[in-house]
Amino acid sequence: MNSRTLQTIRSLFIEITVIVASLAVMMNSLAVPNNLTPQDNAKTLIQNLSQKTVSDFSLDSSASLSPNLKTNGKYSALKRIDVTFKNRNYWIAQIPNKTVVLTFDDGPSPDYTPKILKKLAQYNIKATFFVVGHRVEHHCDLVRQIVDKGHELGNHTYSHRNLTQLSAKQQEQEIAKTQEAIRKCVGETHVPKWFRAPYGVQNQITFTILKKLNLSSVLWSVDTNDWRIQSTSQTIANDVIASHGKGIVLMHDGVFNSNATVSNRNATVNALDLFLQPMIDQKIQFVTLSKALSPEKTE
Ligand SMILES: [Zn+2]
Repeated sequence: MNSRTLQTIRSLFIEITVIVASLAVMMNSLAVPNNLTPQDNAKTLIQNLSQKTVSDFSLDSSASLSPNLKTNGKYSALKRIDVTFKNRNYWIAQIPNKTVVLTFDDGPSPDYTPKILKKLAQYNIKATFFVVGHRVEHHCDLVRQIVDKGHELGNHTYSHRNLTQLSAKQQEQEIAKTQEAIRKCVGETHVPKWFRAPYGVQNQITFTILKKLNLSSVLWSVDTNDWRIQSTSQTIANDVIASHGKGIVLMHDGVFNSNATVSNRNATVNALDLFLQPMIDQKIQFVTLSKALSPEKTE
């Protein structure tokens, strides 16, 4: 056998290997249904998370706002955290098992915030409220009730606009004016350290402003879709229950009217009775973001 024949056999062998490998990949992708809904994905995410440890997650190297990590994989100080879609797996993994953070966005609302506060008191649990600056100015009494009952405030911008369509200056106004409205209403101790962008939409400009204002971005791991017309208290409750007792749950106490969204928060209020007691019976804790992500928890 001369060297040319040998070479031909070798390249033929490589080609066959590549074909077999590609076929295997194709068969594999055929076997896995690819029509998962975002909720299915969220459920899988949470299921996977509860089985993983911090070291299973690699930090997003592009996230300059991530904290300094110790060599053992635990973080040394809660200076800046960035629970965005990009690296939320890492941060959700930091939340202790059997711990759920309920977050309520778009309030305060005179129609629904008091009802939600009453339910939370009934079950003796704490939550985090991402309030809208101009609503804080109109309903400072409600913001005061939120903090008086031991809940936490987050910043959800001043007028709930899509930040990525604004200039850097406008973005900063949206965020800073809300901090100021809260400071005026309830004082320095309750000025938020958490920020959630409306629609979950933010960009690098937002991150730079957040850093300057000492705020940390937080999205969610469970979207209850309570703003959708087709949602019911049962579908909302099911989504929370499907969190397997770990994660950050997105709900709403305020309403922004549009044709595509529900015009009230009755389903959200009623959902609380459907999932709180069963989950509390499973020894699941409902705490504020600061409690769930405090550095002491992971030390
Ligand atoms: Zn919102």
